[in-house]
Amino acid sequence: MTLTKKSYVSKMVNELKPSGIRRFFDLAASMEGVISLGVGEPDFVTPWHVREEAIRSLEMGYTAYTPNAGLLELRQEIAHYMEKEFDVSYHPQNEIIVTVGASSAIDIAMRTILDPGDEVIVVEPCFVSYVPMVELAGGKAITVQATKEHDFKILPSQLEAVVSERTKAIMLCSPNNPTGTMLNKTELEAIAQFAIEHDVLIIADEIYAELAYDEEYTSMAAIPGMHERTILVSGFSKGFAMTGWRLGFVCAPEPIAEAMLKIFQYQLMCASTMSQYAAIEALKNGRSEVEKMVKSYRRRRNFIVQSFNDMGLTCHNPGGAFYAFPSIKSTGLTSQEFAAQLLQQEKVAVVPGDVFGESGEGHIRCSYAASLEQLQEALKRIERFIQNFK
Ligand code: PMP
Repeated sequence: MTLTKKSYVSKMVNELKPSGIRRFFDLAASMEGVISLGVGEPDFVTPWHVREEAIRSLEMGYTAYTPNAGLLELRQEIAHYMEKEFDVSYHPQNEIIVTVGASSAIDIAMRTILDPGDEVIVVEPCFVSYVPMVELAGGKAITVQATKEHDFKILPSQLEAVVSERTKAIMLCSPNNPTGTMLNKTELEAIAQFAIEHDVLIIADEIYAELAYDEEYTSMAAIPGMHERTILVSGFSKGFAMTGWRLGFVCAPEPIAEAMLKIFQYQLMCASTMSQYAAIEALKNGRSEVEKMVKSYRRRRNFIVQSFNDMGLTCHNPGGAFYAFPSIKSTGLTSQEFAAQLLQQEKVAVVPGDVFGESGEGHIRCSYAASLEQLQEALKRIERFIQNFK
């Protein structure tokens, strides 16, 4: 029934495309017998002692709002953890905000720094939310393509080609979703040098920092000169297997953190109280479980990458996160065709690479946050599927 001829939805939101991941995920959920390598979340349940802390907080009756920036005890634990694990130093009182997932941290970061028409360089392939978040904040996303030829690592010369007077920040994610590519210290230093020369910020999405398999993780904020120009986004969803708790955090130099808090206090007030109590426990006593999960992901990573290469779908070795991003170019299919036909014929759900940006085309994203048995079966099915195109 049409109540009125007037559209109440803004032009900007009307033009926003729905996430390409959700579409496949919903389709796969409506079918029987599907193995899903589509979703970007751990297959582990949050460790029991962490869940127990949330229960305890409820039993204690801690059901009120927390301070806008989060429980001070949690911010102190975050500061301690970030210093110990990643060699970055943030003041718990005025440089850390506990957010509703890394998602809300990215959102407030964009809205804090962008005036209408300001530009953010977004390195693709990337997490599907970055470009919409820039646009919803009134900014302009300038995309640059990291390519398979360089293991999906962006080169400073590519940034140089698009930087302008309006560039406020570079949106960077390492380890990356969807490629799994992790930037080493030298590569980060080159990008840092660029940011310093051009006086731009880096929004560093380090949500997968715990999941590094071959080398020690280096944070962008640990590179000399970068503390003051990095907005470091992280959280509990991936490394601590806490996606449903909706808890993240952002670390930034005081003037930026203070400005971000102004938005957060009106937008969300504070993150969930029981999640915050659970997170204190995760940081204090959860490290050994994280290490166990990392060990398991590494084993699966090795298996899936080797299997793809063996069947002729070339796949670079992803240094972190839990995604393999093999090329499907040899089949002659587009990534959308590949994903749709694979789901129909073999009931394996993967995500077509083009949803992550132009240079993602010709690839599929396969999450290996699934049991080794499921991965083995899925890869058997994928191998059978590609025989059609040989
Ligand atoms: N950044 C990246 C790169 C992600 O992959 C995701 C989740 N898929 C997020 C941020 C959002 O995480 P959260 O659950 O903490 O909001």
